[in-house]
Amino acid sequence: MYKPTLDYAQQLDKEDKLAHLRAQFHIPKDKEGNDWLYFTGNSLGLQPKQTQQYIQQELDDWAKYGVEGHFEARNPWMPYHEFLTNSMAKIVGAKPLEVVVMNTLTTNLHLLMVSFYQPTKTKYKIVIESDAFPSDRYAVQSQLKFHGSDAEDGLIEWKPREGEELLRIEDLEKIVDEQGDEIALLLIGGVNYYTGQYLDIKRIAEIGHAKNCIVGIDLAHGAGNISPELHESGVDFAAWCTYKYLNSGPGSLAGLFVHEKHAHNKDLPRFAGWWNHNKETRFNMRQPFDVMPGAEGWQLSNPPILSMAAIRASLDMFEEVGMEALRAKSEKLTGYFEYLINQIDTASIKIITPSNPKERGCQLSIQVKNADKSLHKKLTENNIITDWREPDVIRCAPVPMYNSFEDVYRMVETLKTLL
Ligand SMILES: *Cc1c(COP(=O)(O)O)cnc(C)c1O
Repeated sequence: MYKPTLDYAQQLDKEDKLAHLRAQFHIPKDKEGNDWLYFTGNSLGLQPKQTQQYIQQELDDWAKYGVEGHFEARNPWMPYHEFLTNSMAKIVGAKPLEVVVMNTLTTNLHLLMVSFYQPTKTKYKIVIESDAFPSDRYAVQSQLKFHGSDAEDGLIEWKPREGEELLRIEDLEKIVDEQGDEIALLLIGGVNYYTGQYLDIKRIAEIGHAKNCIVGIDLAHGAGNISPELHESGVDFAAWCTYKYLNSGPGSLAGLFVHEKHAHNKDLPRFAGWWNHNKETRFNMRQPFDVMPGAEGWQLSNPPILSMAAIRASLDMFEEVGMEALRAKSEKLTGYFEYLINQIDTASIKIITPSNPKERGCQLSIQVKNADKSLHKKLTENNIITDWREPDVIRCAPVPMYNSFEDVYRMVETLKTLL
């Protein structure tokens, strides 16, 4: 159905109801003023033009009101994080009670493990994907050690089979079937950062829960990319950053999800600070700690408003467009990208991302024969921004918010020439 021509790509852009969004972003340019072909929204999303004015608003109110801005600012800082909750909850398919924006991703994973990783002498192991993002692996290893286990013995890897790149759910099932009595926690990347594989989160939750294991999901590569339906999936917890597909700026704050079933459990062990203490009495000081229900019950500190303003600018765009429309464009855009790459007659590259749109988001991971890094370098020299991930993959993410069908066409034309 697709055609490998520039005319056709431009036609798809004309028919694209979301095409106007591109103009609402700053697209980086080369020295001659040509737009870069930006395919790294999975690493750092581009800046929405309105972000500046959202941050400026808070700077102005800080200048004008000082500490009174907590109540007097146009968007009062006291409840500022609450302005993000509904939109964020929609993006990940959660109830507002289940979601909060706070800290950064790895910090949130640790805070969640404080509550949800409760090892015993016999049930203490943690399952991760063999190609888990390094930060998640380090976090989990350090939790094992913190609880007095051997990080090697305590870590179980869910691996692709010999000669394969992708994970099979049956293999996770087998691990949990056989070793479930020793497993306390499954911590899995919902969309794997390396292969782009979108795993069946609901199935993972069922597999883990069948053996009384807690199930946590890292959605760093999922939030704003796929629709994970977190509530419905039944996973116990999740966390994600907002600087990738959620376009909220370098190092911006992270999201946290705790399933409603844990919302009112005051007995869960957790770290405390004044921001997870009951809002009603937070400022009475001299009060015994009284934890808030839901995800807000994991906060510790009053949050950085300037970073939240950037998140708000982006979430307002997601709110306006809706994940459904974004996902529909995404499937088409990535489908076209895949089609064009598959037209190239070469044995030196191979897409390892699943071809079923239900098993991937927008990212395609292109494996390069003999791990030849020079191809990535040449792409960069041609203003095509992708990223190289060791050992042998170029990751490319056409993002439905700002990438066009023409971007994808031009990228593959250059790729073809370079090959
Ligand atoms: C991007 C990413 C991180 C980064 O963690 P930070 O704490 O935000 O630095 C961690 N895990 C995964 C899976 C990621 O994709």
